Amino acid sequence: MSTNAKRLVILGAAESGIGAALLGKQQGWEVFVSDGGTIKEKFKAALQQHAISFEEGGHTTGRVLEADCIVKSPGIPEKAEIMKQVRKAGIEVCSEIEFGFRYKGSSKIIAITGSNGKSTTTKLTWHILKTAGNDVAMVGNIGRSFALQIFEKPCEWYVIEVSSFQLDDIHQFRPDIAVLLNITPDHLDRYDYVFDNYVRSKFRITQNQLPTDCFIVNRDDEAINNYLSTHSIHAKLVFFTMDENKIPEEGGYVNKDFLHINYEGEEMKTSVHDLTIKGRHNQYNSMAAGISGRAAHIRKEKIRESFESFDGLEHRLEFVATVRGVDFINDSKGTNVNSVWFALESQSKPVILILGGQDKGNDYNEILGMVREKVKAIVCMGLDNEPIHKFFDPVIDTIVDTKSAKDAVHAAYALADKGDLVLLSPACASFDLFKNYEDRGNQFKEAVRSL
Ligand code: ADP
Repeated sequence: MSTNAKRLVILGAAESGIGAALLGKQQGWEVFVSDGGTIKEKFKAALQQHAISFEEGGHTTGRVLEADCIVKSPGIPEKAEIMKQVRKAGIEVCSEIEFGFRYKGSSKIIAITGSNGKSTTTKLTWHILKTAGNDVAMVGNIGRSFALQIFEKPCEWYVIEVSSFQLDDIHQFRPDIAVLLNITPDHLDRYDYVFDNYVRSKFRITQNQLPTDCFIVNRDDEAINNYLSTHSIHAKLVFFTMDENKIPEEGGYVNKDFLHINYEGEEMKTSVHDLTIKGRHNQYNSMAAGISGRAAHIRKEKIRESFESFDGLEHRLEFVATVRGVDFINDSKGTNVNSVWFALESQSKPVILILGGQDKGNDYNEILGMVREKVKAIVCMGLDNEPIHKFFDPVIDTIVDTKSAKDAVHAAYALADKGDLVLLSPACASFDLFKNYEDRGNQFKEAVRSL
């Protein structure tokens, strides 16, 4: 191995870590990958194929601390022992999007963050750029990592779904267009249960932007407004809103069932009924994606066309089936309380709500009114349903416990009358009973289809 090469250590060998490892190797770094758990076979094969050394089942501290730069997986918390040592040694730590950014060349970035709606908005924005004929890749949390895309096939445009964990270790990362959809409590366990820490982390998306860049934000979000009233932003600020009293001169708004986007003096207008994705939350997502498209100089006709041809995403308010008059909707990606609020808000039938899983410190007060108004019964689906009972027992007469998707579907079906709707929108992570939210959604759909 070359002794002159700078040493790059990757902590955590999952999607983003492997991308950074391959890109690092390609760019002349001496790369070492270290994972505290087991590395998936497909990732090991990729490392072996590119002659990258790795370890699993623990970190060899001495070797990790020899690094000139460390790319840390977003899944590793600062509390982890190895991170304490890395920080003590003062080694540069960057997230995978930061590392990728250094090798992106002259390509352009649209980065999208928020507590909810990231994947939907990322995919719709990508769809808009693609429809208009651009060379564009959709990367980040939604699929292939940014670094891997640069390694395999650099593009002119990247639409990146960015989580707050990825933003925690950026230094130069600077999107040409950044979107902040909303900020509601989520992942607070990683931010010492201090909401402000989480807010600050989300706003890092704009910290390196220049006045020539564009920062697109939700005017109706309290946490965003509070932050903006006390901090200055370098980029051009563009707002979107559903509030008729806050219609921005430049930006997006919804008025009388029409979604408007006004950008650089040009106005476009689409009926919300022509959007393929439904619900108020998706009007927000569509405004954010549409403004991003305009900021990327996409013609308004192409944006309208993209709104009308967008497929949406699996596990987000996905209609599954109607069984003897009862509708089933899979919103397995509804992993926090705010997303359940929007999921309920967009329903007009009485709801049997399947709720529960791994609690992230949920405060159900936010959905109390919505539950009172729309929910007939709750089916808990999780190993520990105590927090749900504690909160909802005084509010909802019927709350039953289940520990599998199949039992939950059967219980919900038994409680439903013709004309009701069964909604899986759990407000919790899935890891107590399932591999991930996709697995949870798939098991739910399978159980519905075999009713
Ligand atoms: P993310 O990638 O941020 O988790 P998704 O697009 O995957 O977001 O949507 C996750 C869930 O959040 C959806 O199932 C939906 O119920 C809800 N949701 C989507 N967009 C929004 C939004 N703009 N505001 C609030 N909730 C939303």
